[in-house]
Amino acid sequence: EKKGLASSAQDLSPSYDWFQTDSLITIVIYTKQKDMNADLVIVDCQDKQLRGEIIMDDHSYLVEIDLDHAVSEDVAVNIAERVGKVEIILKKKDNVHWKNLGRPSEGHNTFIKRTDRGLFYRKCKLVSKTEVTHDTKLFCLMLPKGTHLRVPTGQHVYLKHIIAGTEVVKPYTPVLPFLPLDFQEDGVHIYLMIKIYSHGLFTQALDHLQIGDYISVSNPEGNFKKSQVQTSEDLLLLAGGTGFTPMVKLLNFALTEVSCLRTAKLIFFNKTEDDILWRNQLEQLALKDERFEVQFILSQPSKDWVGKQGKISPSLLSEFVKRSRRDSKVLICICGPAPFTEQGVQYLKDLGYSQEEIHAFTA
Ligand code: FAD
Ligand code: NAD
Repeated sequence: EKKGLASSAQDLSPSYDWFQTDSLITIVIYTKQKDMNADLVIVDCQDKQLRGEIIMDDHSYLVEIDLDHAVSEDVAVNIAERVGKVEIILKKKDNVHWKNLGRPSEGHNTFIKRTDRGLFYRKCKLVSKTEVTHDTKLFCLMLPKGTHLRVPTGQHVYLKHIIAGTEVVKPYTPVLPFLPLDFQEDGVHIYLMIKIYSHGLFTQALDHLQIGDYISVSNPEGNFKKSQVQTSEDLLLLAGGTGFTPMVKLLNFALTEVSCLRTAKLIFFNKTEDDILWRNQLEQLALKDERFEVQFILSQPSKDWVGKQGKISPSLLSEFVKRSRRDSKVLICICGPAPFTEQGVQYLKDLGYSQEEIHAFTA
């Protein structure tokens, strides 16, 4: 009986093979999973080190090899989505015959829980830094040539930097370079919208990076699933400050790819008018796409603010969080300072929204 169990676990586990031509090395991974896609494949090849990770639900399959010979920086990744086959194609530096693929590392050919797989970091180059508001900047990082990595909607990455001799790690949520929709990501650049705090440990160090400097970026993480929004008719986004960042890709995805979507509404909480991120772009979007609406709510407005004011409260939520129809399928996403998110979730539940209708972005 034990033997039967072991072999069925083995049947589920991906496997790999490799072959070569005069100029190429192809590593083929058979995931045995039908709905493979580019978001689930992370490849890093640098010098002679090859690392390929395949994400399969809460598991991770790893190919990690110290290659026998040098390869060029260009790495191609082909995914046969329907049969679940992933090919990693490397270019030989010298057209010699390889006797073997190389020396496997300890984690090579393992299929384990994602949480048991340590985060992998690669160094990315800072290519631009542009002002968004008085204290928030858009950082554009470039992945190395040998890296294939997409950050899925709703997920974040970790940045790692050595500050005063100590490794410091903080999470950030990639956005798009701008809002006008139907933006196709190039797979090379990662955009991060980051608020610089005057006494912030990490953001001060980030702010001091020069164009051309390098910073380590991890594999993506997070428990948001695209399928949650794929069937939504009403999408409600509650954001506080930089809690806006996960909403960017989410909005882009919903407005471009969710055909049943009827309304998308962003309720954006900030301290002052000057703190509102991408205000102009959001207002333009609302004009262009009649499904989208934005509401700004300020907690410390100046005297001239004629819009809504206050902090998240049951009365503000009951005023702005509504279904477009009585039986609409709704998804409410919330992100911001921890007390904002916690209170918001509680108020939404008090208003009768169920656990399944609410997604909170947290640490
Ligand atoms: P810290 O040194 O930690 O301090 C930040 C500021 O808060 C300072 O002014 C400090 O004086 C003050 N402070 C520190 N601790 C407290 C406290 N307990 N009470 C009151 N004040 C305090 N941020 C973004 O800008 N963009 C993002 O896309 C983004 N994504 C995130 C995704 C996730 C999943 C999470 C959990 C956080 C995200 N953050 C994001 C926040 C980010 O990770 C950092 O927390 C932030 O950049 C501050 O880091 P820091 O080291 O500069 O600040
Ligand atoms: P901020 O201090 O400028 O506050 C923005 C608004 O949030 C305020 O105007 C207020 O309406 C509300 N708010 C703030 N503190 C509150 C409180 N104690 N109770 C109720 N409402 C409150 O915000 P910021 O400096 O931009 O910070 C954004 C926060 O979002 C950070 O804590 C960051 O870690 C978090 N964040 C989390 C994620 C995530 O978990 N995925 C992603 C991005 C940002």
